[in-house]
Amino acid sequence: MTGTDRLHKPVLVLNASYEPINICAARRALVLILKGVALAEELAPAQVHSARQALNVPSVIRLLEYRRIPHQTRALSRKNILMRDRYMCQYCQRVLPSGEMTLDHVIPRSRHGETAWENLVACCHSCNNRKGNRTPEEAGMKLLRLPRPFSLHTSRHLMRLLGRGEDQWRKYLFFSEEN
Ligand SMILES: [Zn+2]
Repeated sequence: MTGTDRLHKPVLVLNASYEPINICAARRALVLILKGVALAEELAPAQVHSARQALNVPSVIRLLEYRRIPHQTRALSRKNILMRDRYMCQYCQRVLPSGEMTLDHVIPRSRHGETAWENLVACCHSCNNRKGNRTPEEAGMKLLRLPRPFSLHTSRHLMRLLGRGEDQWRKYLFFSEEN
């Protein structure tokens, strides 16, 4: 693994209370540590070398000050909608790479459907074409599930998926079940 790869490795971010709240790249984690905002709870078995020093790359960091996490922490964006829906077309349930996905307005925009978490789903091109300017009911298509905002609950689920191969993350991800 090269130094650059190491700086892109995912790092689990814990709140001061040890609650997992995010995932960031190792580079960002190192910046937070150097700024004194966070400390390393677990170190990856790797170092990166800067001009003057060797730095241990963390795999888990913890914020020193408790941060209040608003109910909805994620910006509404194409990437986040696709992540929420796990790159699965919400009509035919095919999982596709991001480039082959579109976003579907469940209630079409032409019918005053909102651009909002509750009205946007990941959708493949063929389902999007088939649905056209209709509601799912009109098109005879069924949504896999009702779209919801990207909540911390969803984020934790994703952290678990991403953290599957990260032994050092496990105890933080599983210590508290949804409450
Ligand atoms: Zn589809």
